[in-house]
Amino acid sequence: MPATAKRIEIAAQKQLRPIVRDYFLNLDAAASDPARRVAWCTSIGPCEILTALGFEVYFPENHGALLGARKVSHEYIPRAVAAGYCAESCSYMTSDIGSALAGFSPLTEAFGIAGPPKPDLLVYSTNQCREVQDWWGFFGRRHEVPVLGITPPTHLGDVTAEHISFVRGELARLIDIIETHFGMKLNENHLTEVVARSSRASTLWNQILDTARVRPATFTFFDGLFHMSPVILMRGSQTAIDYYEVLLAEMSMRVRDGVGAVPNERYRVYWEGMPIWPKLREMSDKFFDLRAVVAASTYCNSWAFERFDGGDPLEWMAKTSIAIFINRDERFKQEFLVDMFDRFDIDGAIFHNARTCPNNTNSRFGMAQRLRDEQDRPILVFDGDLSDLRFFSTAQTMTNIEAFIEQLEERKR
Ligand code: SF4
Repeated sequence: MPATAKRIEIAAQKQLRPIVRDYFLNLDAAASDPARRVAWCTSIGPCEILTALGFEVYFPENHGALLGARKVSHEYIPRAVAAGYCAESCSYMTSDIGSALAGFSPLTEAFGIAGPPKPDLLVYSTNQCREVQDWWGFFGRRHEVPVLGITPPTHLGDVTAEHISFVRGELARLIDIIETHFGMKLNENHLTEVVARSSRASTLWNQILDTARVRPATFTFFDGLFHMSPVILMRGSQTAIDYYEVLLAEMSMRVRDGVGAVPNERYRVYWEGMPIWPKLREMSDKFFDLRAVVAASTYCNSWAFERFDGGDPLEWMAKTSIAIFINRDERFKQEFLVDMFDRFDIDGAIFHNARTCPNNTNSRFGMAQRLRDEQDRPILVFDGDLSDLRFFSTAQTMTNIEAFIEQLEERKR
């Protein structure tokens, strides 16, 4: 890429920073107000129920990602290892536990608050992995608050009515337990409103991601990692909807005007697996310099849920929570990836083997090889991790990416 090539900033991101700051300041205020309650929830957990019950909702995985993005995870993982957590287990979990034991949080520097809000309740769903159950267990013991969860059926091929009914039953029981414990009563109309807003934010997010289908792509995976925070942290709020309407309008203008995230885009790449939070800037710059746009990813699509068109909100929650990619079988995942490659006109794919997250890594059982054979598209698999840089070699990975892009160039010739 010529040295003169410049990134075109996304104007909406100026609005995002104060939105995220207000979200954390509100959580901090709620945690110190005896009249308000805070619940911690997994990123694709039943947060709509918690919001509808009046809890402010905090997502610890986001804290794990922040520790990674601030390049400090490795300083805190050993604290969790000393407390008995395996160094090869989820580095979101170990860095988050380690940072709590050390009394450190990146939220202090970013927003001037002491750290994560003290919870009144922790709620998980094992639709993504069982690690969250043990992670939440640590903080439940530490704060002496209840830990509740649902354990949906996993590795699903087809999602059947029986599966949905089972998970709906788990959600209904979860509501009963919370109502009894806290003396609350869920207003079903309010839950329907929250679910409708959650679905609206998710639909807008999906439409934003879809604008990258055009050439040149409007948006990259690395942009997505920044702009996805409302659909994770503020799902069910009007704030998330308002923000995504602004962002979608901007991305639609890019489509209309032919503005690409990578000037002179030449290669279109798919990212499968977790991001590498401490290396986002370097990775983004590398692809930019090679005129390659990472136009789509499984990760950013994880919060693009099916639309809610009215009806039973618990059924929608049950269905969306088990239909997500991470909760599906190999056949479904492979077909999903082929569909994404076609829809986004992908030249080649990268599989990140995140060493501490086998759950969101799909290169371990031959899928990359099968896709390479069946799809006739170059595929690169490399080792790394979401946060723990012990498992990542920058020099080796950058060399591999350059060789991969050369392969794409040869095919174009
Ligand atoms: S899905 Fe992976 S990164 Fe996320 S909590 Fe589970 S093990 Fe950790």
